Amino acid sequence: MDSAGTRPGDGANPSSAPKAAGAATLPELKIQLANPRGFCAGVERAIQIVERALEKYGRPVYVRHEIVHNRFVVEGLEARGAIFVEDLDDVPDDFPVVFSAHGVPKSVPAEAESRKLLYVDATCPLVSKVHREAERHYKNGKQIILVGHAGHPEVVGTIGQLPDGAVLLLQSVEDVATVDVADPDNIAYVTQTTLSIDDTAEIVAALCKRFPLIDGPKKEDICYATTNRQESVKAIARQCDAMLVVGAPNSSNSLRLVEVAERSGCARARLVQRATDIDWDWLGDAKCLGITAGASAPETLVNEVISAVRERFDVTIEEVSGIEENVTFKLPRDLANA
Ligand code: SF4
Repeated sequence: MDSAGTRPGDGANPSSAPKAAGAATLPELKIQLANPRGFCAGVERAIQIVERALEKYGRPVYVRHEIVHNRFVVEGLEARGAIFVEDLDDVPDDFPVVFSAHGVPKSVPAEAESRKLLYVDATCPLVSKVHREAERHYKNGKQIILVGHAGHPEVVGTIGQLPDGAVLLLQSVEDVATVDVADPDNIAYVTQTTLSIDDTAEIVAALCKRFPLIDGPKKEDICYATTNRQESVKAIARQCDAMLVVGAPNSSNSLRLVEVAERSGCARARLVQRATDIDWDWLGDAKCLGITAGASAPETLVNEVISAVRERFDVTIEEVSGIEENVTFKLPRDLANA
């Protein structure tokens, strides 16, 4: 285990921890632990890229944008010598820079090359796949519609794969009715990888209804990790009186898990970055608490949340069986043997 302290399963397993003295007097609470939850292959790879870059090039290594959307992860890497910046202008010459898992507009590596910066691209391969799709459609003369959230770095990166104006951004079913395309018979859509499966299906259905000849991805762009985490929340939502989603407020896939929980029958769901964020009054007299984590949230923080719950309740934990994930992504060749 490295000092970033960010791998799933880190730390003591709270499900097997002894109960606190006097636990018998505590109110009973069942925890339903969603499965799968937490780190995905793209996040694991991105963190590893920064760690390997630090080993290979020494400190500091600059990282453009949070490598993944989680403060705990970012602070762990900062302690090891990573410096996070939002703009390439803030990277001095002669220092390596890593681009975050969310992807970057083409102008970013182009600028790095013009400055002769050593850069490593940690864009998740599943985001890169969407970039290549958009490029392919564009080369085939199609106008591109991107379904996603304005301002999210992944959306900025995908729009930035193509010349200005080539990509139209849609955020809702309502947007479909008003979007103005040049040739309705010559358009294609791609989506952000971390959207709500159900919302996106509605938007895509509206697009296909309005533009019957629209081209789309062969396999949907929402990634396996986003899909599996939403499905695992749906599987437990109805039994849970409340749900805690461990994740960051700027993490798209974590925010979607809160929405999915509430829409799938859980009375209330909240995002917490870590245990200190838990509002115990909000939890009230819940008898069953669901816990899950977004794709950029380490298992250490899930364990921390469970430990905090154990201090106030007599807890039994039920870990739901779910899809087994065995996705891994290769590191860039330069860092594979670092
Ligand atoms: S959430 Fe999906 S697209 Fe984003 S890093 Fe993880 S696997 Fe890649």
